[in-house]
Amino acid sequence: MPLKLSIPDLEQLTPERVRELDCAQKEQLLNNILDDLRELHDRLNRTPWNSSCPPSSQPVWGRVGKPKEGEEGEKGEDKEENKTSAESGEVSETSNEKSGGESGSEAKEQSEDESGFSRAEEEKDKKPGRQPGMVGHSRNQNLPMTGEVKHIPGECVVCRATQSEENFVAETGHLTVDVERVGESGGVLGLQATHVKHLYGKTTCPACGHVHRTEPGRTSKEEPWEVELTEWRLVGPMLVSLIVFLHFRMRLSYRRIQEFLDIWLGLYLSTSTLSQCVHEAGRAVEPLEEELVEDIQKAALVHIDETGWPEGKEVLWLWCFITVTTCLYMIGYRSREFLENVLGEMFLGWMMSDGYRTYRFYPQRLRCWAHLLRKARGLAQSSNSAEAKPFGKAVLTFLADLMAAIYAAREGPPGENLKERFADRLADFKVLCERYSQADHEKTRLLAREFLNDWDAIWAVLENPDLPLTNNTAEQALRHWVIARLLSQGTRTPQGTRVFGLLASVIDTCRLRNINPWPYLAEVLANRRQGKEAPPLPVSALS
Ligand SMILES: [Zn+2]
Repeated sequence: MPLKLSIPDLEQLTPERVRELDCAQKEQLLNNILDDLRELHDRLNRTPWNSSCPPSSQPVWGRVGKPKEGEEGEKGEDKEENKTSAESGEVSETSNEKSGGESGSEAKEQSEDESGFSRAEEEKDKKPGRQPGMVGHSRNQNLPMTGEVKHIPGECVVCRATQSEENFVAETGHLTVDVERVGESGGVLGLQATHVKHLYGKTTCPACGHVHRTEPGRTSKEEPWEVELTEWRLVGPMLVSLIVFLHFRMRLSYRRIQEFLDIWLGLYLSTSTLSQCVHEAGRAVEPLEEELVEDIQKAALVHIDETGWPEGKEVLWLWCFITVTTCLYMIGYRSREFLENVLGEMFLGWMMSDGYRTYRFYPQRLRCWAHLLRKARGLAQSSNSAEAKPFGKAVLTFLADLMAAIYAAREGPPGENLKERFADRLADFKVLCERYSQADHEKTRLLAREFLNDWDAIWAVLENPDLPLTNNTAEQALRHWVIARLLSQGTRTPQGTRVFGLLASVIDTCRLRNINPWPYLAEVLANRRQGKEAPPLPVSALS
């Protein structure tokens, strides 16, 4: 049904114009507005899955770019040789340890939790109003009740009279456990657990008799999320934030978090409740990702690195894109298409990466010298004195001279082009690389070819000495999550993978901006539970 009032209609209907209308006209207008409002409410609940709206275009995180046969695992002759094999070795080692150890009891615990949890879920699904009194899903809490909140409307939607508690009749409610930060001045372990009863119901306006009904807020269905975003929850926003902190920053398993909360705060939460909290937080921050992607696409310099990430039985790649103020993690295939999809067509900045072949299509690229130096050092210390030793030493000497010149140029006045100053030595070095690219010694041959293949990217820093020499920024960012992966063996489902990438991005971006992520995360969750938009990511506190 089309709307009755068009934009030009609304522009004419100023408060002055409305005042001029007679009573019958006002009534007619009001009924037209109410019809439009009903229509809009119906439309709001519509999604591409229950209507004829076209599904939105492929999201940036979609699993695009599955490598063609043979492309995956193509290391490029210059990829750090040991990276992939060493990592997969570590993962399987952990998985052996795990299957013999805790995982049995974890699984048992999980199923017990699930049965306990589903009771709360059932009650949650009941329509507000049908179930007077309390839901029983906090029967395991030892906490005393710390408060009661009656949700009454602020003012009457008809006559604007202020509503009061006297006319409120509770119809439904739930309990929330949460934490409050106390002792902000420091020196106090600042957490106070709270246990609050939330009541919803009807309030009759004392002036006009209109009946208002309150119910917990929620965000309507967003594909493909299964977890609901709603205030009808046992775990409050700050406690969810604390759980995400313990899981992602402290890298604690759900079992450990459960133990921590139980012993230190007297809060008993099942591991499936903890997992649900983390998923809900992931869904809550999803709208922020678009902004992060835009920041990366607009950046003058992006460091990129990637590492293996298991999702169930599939081996995916955790990509890190990091700038001065934004950090984005995405998990997907290791392919050019995936990379292009994240960077978009408009990316014009410098890209710092290692020598993986996928990066080579991009013209404005920097190469991490740390990898080259490490390989050259290995050759120089090798027992092969015919090829490896002389080539390794030549590379080390040349790079050391260039680094000294780069450091000096950073101190001195801008404008000196080191590529011109070193043109002769670069030409000599190229001849050397061409000679050793036919060497019998494999690692010597590979390093010589790596220089030739990535020639422009490796020397780009000579023309722009203020650009970085290494990819440490991205490698350090990934290191934290590599340890998390070893502890957790990656993620189990696409949804879990998505939650991981979203939360890791928001947490590390806040940290880069010198913002405390945890109150912010709680605020995002509280807003999204009420059906409001997520507050934008704070700008850097450093600038
Ligand atoms: Zn009223």
